[in-house]
Formats: sequence, C-alpha cells, structure tokens
Amino acid sequence: MLSKNIKTLNKHHNDMSIKVFNTLTRKKELLKPLNGNNINLFVCGPTVYDFSHIGHAKTYVQFDVIVRYLRYKGFEVFYLQNITDIDDKIIKRGNEQGKNPMTIARKFEKEYLSDMKELGITSIDKYARATDYIKPIIKQIKTLFDKGFAYETSDGVYFEIDKFKDYGKLCHQPLDKIKEGARVSVNKEKKNPSDFSLWKKAKINEPSWDSPWGKGRPGWHIEDTAITETEFGPQYDLHGGGSDLIFPHHESEIAQMEASSGKKPFVKYWMHTAFLNIKKEKMSKSVGNFTTIREALRKWDEKTYRFYYASTHYRTPLDYSNEAVNKVKQGLERINEFIRKVKIANGKKKNEIEKLIGETLDVFEKHMDNDFDMPQAIASVYDFIRAVNKLELSKQNGKAIIGFFEKIDSVLGVMTFEDLEVPSEIQILAEKRQKAREKKDWATADKMRDKLKTKGYYIDDTSKGPVVKKIS
Ligand SMILES: [Zn+2]
Repeated sequence: MLSKNIKTLNKHHNDMSIKVFNTLTRKKELLKPLNGNNINLFVCGPTVYDFSHIGHAKTYVQFDVIVRYLRYKGFEVFYLQNITDIDDKIIKRGNEQGKNPMTIARKFEKEYLSDMKELGITSIDKYARATDYIKPIIKQIKTLFDKGFAYETSDGVYFEIDKFKDYGKLCHQPLDKIKEGARVSVNKEKKNPSDFSLWKKAKINEPSWDSPWGKGRPGWHIEDTAITETEFGPQYDLHGGGSDLIFPHHESEIAQMEASSGKKPFVKYWMHTAFLNIKKEKMSKSVGNFTTIREALRKWDEKTYRFYYASTHYRTPLDYSNEAVNKVKQGLERINEFIRKVKIANGKKKNEIEKLIGETLDVFEKHMDNDFDMPQAIASVYDFIRAVNKLELSKQNGKAIIGFFEKIDSVLGVMTFEDLEVPSEIQILAEKRQKAREKKDWATADKMRDKLKTKGYYIDDTSKGPVVKKIS
C-alpha cells in the first residue's frame, strides 16, 4: 500500500514526455502512443524447454522496471508476453527424456513463472501460449498465401522474402546482404535460403495440429504476430526483447504482419536489451559459462539480484561477475539502512525536506524520461541520501522521506520497508528508548528495551543508527 505522502507527491509530476531509443529508426524518439495514453506492449517470452538463464532475467527485470515507470508516469500499459510451448528444442528435449514434449513445456512454464515471481516481476498483464493461438496462426498464414507472400514445399510453408521489399529494415541490412549471408539451405525446394518457415509439416511422433497444409505446427516467428493481432490488432505501440532477437525473429515478424495486413508500421517502437556476458563472452552451454536464474538466486537474495539489473542501463551490455553483484548489494544495503534510520527519526529541527524530495524526483524522472537511464536515476537517490545524512530529521521529515522512497520503489521494486509494519506502540517505545539514551538516562533506556523484549521486539544499534527488529 502506498502512503498518503505519495498521493501528494503524485501531483508534483504530470509531464509525460518520455524518449525511447527505437531500433527501427536508430534514434531516440518521443513516446507517442497510437491511442491516447494507452500503450500496448509485447515482449518475447521464453521457449519453455529448460530453466531460464540469467540473460533472460536481465531482459525481463529491465522491462519490468520500464513498464512500472510508464505506469508511474500515468500511461495505461497493457503488457503481453508469449510463452513458446511448441518448438524444435522442446520436441528434442522430450525425445531425449522419453517424455511428451507438452509435459516438458508445462513443467518449464511453471518454473519460469516461479522465477519471475522471485524476481519481483509484477507488471505482466497476460501470458499467451503459442498453442492457444493455432487458429489465428493458420488464418494469418492463409492470408499470406492469398496475398502471394507464402508458398508450400514438401516439408512446410515458407515466407518468400523477395516479395517483401522492406525485409531488413529493422536490422538495417539491405535484402541483398541478407541473402548473401544466408547459409545454403538443406531444403532445395525453397525459393531462397533466407525464406523462413511459417508452418512445419509434422514428422512421426511430433505434436501436431490440422491445417490446410496437413498436420503440423507453427514456425518460430508466426506465433508472435498471430498473438498480437488477436490481442492488439495489426498495429501496436511497443515491442521489446533481447537484441539477439532483432534478426531474424523480429525482422520476420514485421514481414509477416505488414505483408498480411498491408498496414505499416506494424510496431511503432522497437526496444532491445543489450547482451549479458560472462567473462566478456556470450553465455552459452558450449562455452560452459551458462548460469540459470535458479542458480543465481541460490547465491543472491532476490532483491539484490533484481537491483543488479534494475541499476544498469538496458542498452548497455553487462559483464556478469560476483564482484559486480556484490557492489550492487552494498549499494542496496546503504539504501535499506537509510530507510530504517529515517523511520525512527525523532529530531527537533524540521528541515525543508519536501523541497529536496521534489528536486530529487525531478532529477530521477529527467533521467528515466531519457530512454530509461536507470543508473543515472538511481545516482540521484544516493545524492539524496548523502544530503539528508548531514541533517537532523524530525518525525514528519522521516515520514515524508519514506513516502518518497516508496514512490521510487514502485518503479525499482528492490527496497525493504518491512520495518514499517512495526506497530505504533512499539515505535513509541523505541523512540522513548532513543530519547533516554540521548539524555544518557540508561535506566529508562533499559526499561524500554525490556518492555520491547516482552512484546517480541529488539533494537539493533547499527553503525547507521538504531533499527527496530522482530525477535525471530
Ligand atoms: Zn518472439
């Protein structure tokens, strides 16, 4: 629950100008949704054949912060994510383990959702499974056929990229270059090696669905456009994902949707998160530097781990290391200690904290508005802490600061306010003890400490000040 302080703070800011770096134009552009304040956003979800790795955590935490910030600014965001539950990898894993591929898909979907919960990802409105959209997928492929963009071979249906002149506009490569770079196709029936699959005809023992081209399953790219056409229509505001998806995945999405609807742009803004590297190398199973979210969360508490990604710019490649996460952990501890200290502030002097809060929010938002510059925005929070640490705070000051931190944390989702749940009766005892100590009245201070103890609380005198804690 947000405190009263936040409501007053909300009046402070109503400028909704945000700039986003658009991969399509390679420019920072003013974010202007197609329809008023409503933003339809789609981010590519996981292929559920194994535990998700830490590169996924980076992308999904960073989009979670981005969406939370868009909502904080007053945009009505509908955040849709797909779950790829039919794919070569899932079938392969099923065969390896002698299991039904659908059993594998459901198991790892569950694990994925559990990871997302641990990471505090709360912004997603809907998960859409590919297999729940087989009808719209078939319909879209039919349209592509009717309009002359698709053809059938003995193993499936393909999109003919020569028919779509804009192919390459997202990855900024001319069509000829793309065709040059393509590997020779195993399938000699393909008109061009770069033509991509829309429908794959079923081999023996594969999960399959009926279609005008016989039993089979969708290709890699078509589920996204069938899902978004169903949920959003042929055009929408924002599409996100890891930068490894720009080509061929997102490029092919544009081809599918713009070819079938005849409308462009299919998506107004494309946002891509930069790579996560380990020891300067791209994470991969063959290099042996592959780490799952599950493994990382055994090492780090969820909020520290989330903050690691929330405090990095989404377009800056990140080199994962224990030292880097440790540094972030210390930073977060500083914030949490400050919150605890402020909570029991009891000085006499009233400072002009509101002004400092307003100024800090301005700086925080200025940086977030600039293509979600999370590191700079967070630096403003540390500047605030440094400034406040020099002051003696009144109780009202403390409350205003907590309200401010709750507001910032509605975007970041990393701070700890639990101590706020300390009942006021306990809070009063803690304050009396603190006052007594300041007067060097040790007898009263000890009495208050004992009273707290009988009620199940104790005071931890940290280097940054006293903190009320529950006896566990
Ligand atoms: Zn996708």
